[in-house]
Formats: sequence, structure tokens, C-alpha cells
Amino acid sequence: MLELDELHVHFPVGGGKTVRAVDGVDLKLEPGETLGLVGESGSGKSTIGKAALRLIPSTSGSIRIGGIAVTEASGTALRQLRSKAQIIFQDPHSSLNPRMTIQRAVAEGLILNTRLRGTRLRDRVAEILEQMGLASQFLNRFPHELSGGQKQRVCIARALALDPDLLILDEPTSALDVSVQAQILETLKGLTKDRPQMTQLFISHNLAVVRFLCKRVAVMYLGRIVEIGTVDQVFSDPRHPYTRALLSAVPVPEASGRPARIRLQGDIPSPTAIPGGCPFHTRCPIAEPGLCDSTPPPMDPLAPEHAARCHFAQASRAA
Ligand code: SF4
Repeated sequence: MLELDELHVHFPVGGGKTVRAVDGVDLKLEPGETLGLVGESGSGKSTIGKAALRLIPSTSGSIRIGGIAVTEASGTALRQLRSKAQIIFQDPHSSLNPRMTIQRAVAEGLILNTRLRGTRLRDRVAEILEQMGLASQFLNRFPHELSGGQKQRVCIARALALDPDLLILDEPTSALDVSVQAQILETLKGLTKDRPQMTQLFISHNLAVVRFLCKRVAVMYLGRIVEIGTVDQVFSDPRHPYTRALLSAVPVPEASGRPARIRLQGDIPSPTAIPGGCPFHTRCPIAEPGLCDSTPPPMDPLAPEHAARCHFAQASRAA
């Protein structure tokens, strides 16, 4: 359903520098799959979501959605793509036009892409909003009359109105109050059951959320995937030191017996100056001088579906 092949997204910035936001990503999602893309801020995960839908240009590599080559699509193919692949952003407040009623916001895509009009259009909008837990009394309201959680439900309804084959969710709960996040997560979990054919790419820095919603997970660091596998494989047997550090920071009950938190040195390096060798070697607790700072590790297949980009992934060397 979504296939990225050696995708690069680079942005020139001042002083002759280039931000290598996405730096050679291969990723394949089958129809109906839910994959979580995780990593720190600046790892390139949101850039992948936007590039996949051509909201920003890619530098090289290929993107295919449902067999359509995204970078080359135009005319009918591009329109088809825009209706069958939808994205939900982090901030529902800026995602909705303040001058448009909720009815109009959700109906817009249907008007552009279907023949639904009049009562049938209104009924379809009311139906989809109701599925998102919003009664018909919301139809004629404006975004400023809704809470953050209600606005995000409208954004989800708007994305689902066209029955997309691919849904990209970019940190959809991060801007919401903690009390509302759980409700939205339950709604998103329900989507997986109600629409088993829909492929979902869930972008998040929150591993607990990804574990709750996804079947597979890919961990990103400085524009590259450093580990990928099923949620069970990655959470119970992480093979990349960066994944282990991220997992060690996930809050768990005190008596769970989890290993001590791994504190990484320093911040993530600038994507304008990605370290040579293994890009993680400047922060890695088990980096081997002479190897890790000079030789980029390949993606090492560990088991069906599980792979990690580390010279010691097979040995699973502890920090
Ligand atoms: Fe750490 Fe070396 Fe593995 Fe990179 S290749 S993650 S620096 S041990």
C-alpha cells in the first residue's frame, strides 16, 4: 500500500549547508497494516509523512501508494491519490479553517471527490461525525466553539469521509490534554477494528502509544530507520542501543523489574552535520572506537520482519 525506496528528503539552508531530514529510507506497508514510526524530534519521521503525500518535495528515491508513483503523479492519478491517502496533523487548531462550519469542513472533500450533494451529503457528514462521537448538533458550529479533542475528532472524520486506503497520523494526540488523549487513542484503536483494510502509518515520539495502536514499529534516528520489527520483537528484544535507550525511558510500574534507564549523552546531532560511520556513535553507550566512527553499519536481518542497523545487533551487546 505504501512503499518507500531509498527515499531522501534534503533541504538547503543558509551557509551552503543542507538538512538531510530523510537520508535513505526503505519502508513497505502492506494493505491493512498499522506501523508506528518513532524517534526523537528531528529524526525525520514527520518529514516522511509529508513527503509520502507530496506535501513537501522529495530529493531522490521513490514513493508508491497503492501502486501509484507519487512523485510522478499528475492529473487524475494525483486526484485519486489525494482522496485515497489522507493525513491527520498534530495540531487540530490550525488544521481547521476558522471560518468554515464543521459540516463544511467535513463535506469539502466529499464535494470535490464524489457526486454526493444536498441531503445525501449532509447525511454522510452527520454519519461520519457520529462515528467519531460527535452528535449532529456540531454540524453548524465553528472550530472555536469546540474543545481540542472535539476538533481532532472533526479532523479524523474529515480524513475518513473519503474512505482512504492509507491514513497517516502525525502525532495526532500530542497537542491534546492528557485526559483527552486516552479518548482519542480509543477512537483510533476502534478504527483498526472497523476498517481492517485501511493501512495506517502512525508517527509518534511516544512508544507506549505505538505499542497500544500498532502491529509493527520502525525506529528512526537522524533520517534513517535503525530498527524495524513487530511490536513484540522490538519491545521485548530490542537490538539497537538507541531503541533500548528509548524503551528504557517509557514509564512503567515500579515493580516491573525493567533495567535501569539508559541516559544518552548530549542531544541528537544537527541533520546538517550527520556524524560519519554509524551516525549514532557520538551518543552510543557501546560504540567501538575504530569501527563505529568509521564504518556505517548495514541493516542486519535478525529474524523474519526484525532488523537493526548496528554492528552488534546479532550479539545484542548490553550497555
Ligand atoms: Fe552503537 Fe556502533 Fe551499533 Fe552504532 S554500530 S549503534 S555506534 S554499537
